[in-house]
Formats: sequence, structure tokens, C-alpha cells
Amino acid sequence: MTEIGSLRRALADAALAVEAAYPYEGCGWLLYDRHGWRARPVRNRLIDIAPARARRRFEMAPGELIEVLSAVDRADTRLVAVYHSHPDAPALPSAADLRAWAPSGTPLYPGVTMLIGEVGAGRWQRWRAHRWFDSRLAEVAIEVGLAVPEDIRAPAGYHRE
Ligand SMILES: [Zn+2]
Repeated sequence: MTEIGSLRRALADAALAVEAAYPYEGCGWLLYDRHGWRARPVRNRLIDIAPARARRRFEMAPGELIEVLSAVDRADTRLVAVYHSHPDAPALPSAADLRAWAPSGTPLYPGVTMLIGEVGAGRWQRWRAHRWFDSRLAEVAIEVGLAVPEDIRAPAGYHRE
């Protein structure tokens, strides 16, 4: 899997990762830095410890999550979106997603987009993006949810999508 690439390539990588997790939920991050976009899949630890639950829930493996967050600390990298998949279910936030996203009513990751991928019969179908506005989650167009962070300049010749 490429480390560097455009948004389209990163989304394709994320789609492959959630297909590979099927029939369980897959999860990960979409990151942006001066090299462009990339997907960073993270293991859904429920697949290992509670597979029946992993069909409708995800929990990022803590070690991998710490790796991602440490890399963000070190470099000028943005966590633009967290993604997960809904196997054989619509790409809309569940009650569990809302509780996990904002356990006390405010989002754990302010400004980060929630991207949900519908995977039907093992094949990725679509992404839908949601963002937090005025204490509720609202659907936004993909290009709004995955806008290039304005404070990071991509190198010359890199084409934004
Ligand atoms: Zn969900």
C-alpha cells in the first residue's frame, strides 16, 4: 500500500482495507501532510476478542492508535477523517457511533470528519461523510468532509482533488 498519494488513491486504499475486514467492521484514518493524502488502516481489535460484536462495532487496536497519534505529533500531519465500515448496512452513523464519537456530548476529535463506508457482500459500495455542527452530527459532501487542510502546503506539482 502506498504511503503517499492523492485523495482518490487514499480512499481506494481505505476501501480495500474495509473490504479485507469484511464481514467485520474495518477502521482507520485518512491523513494529510505535505506529501498529500494517505490511508492508515488500524486493526479492529474486536475481530480478535469479540468477533460477533465486530460485525457491528469497532475499537481501534490501542498500540496502532498510539502509533498514528505519535506520528501526528512528530510531523506536520493532520487527522482529517476517521473511517470505519458498515458491513451489509447503510453508511449512516449508528447510535453506538454517536456515543463513541461524543460520549459526553462533545466530539472526541473536534474538526475530524467521520467517514463511513458501506460494504455490501464483501464489496465496498460508497463513503458518506459526517461532521459535528452545533452539537449534532450532520452529513456533508465528501469534498467538504475531506477538504485539504489550508495550513499545510502541498509541494508544487501535487494536484489537489
Ligand atoms: Zn458505525
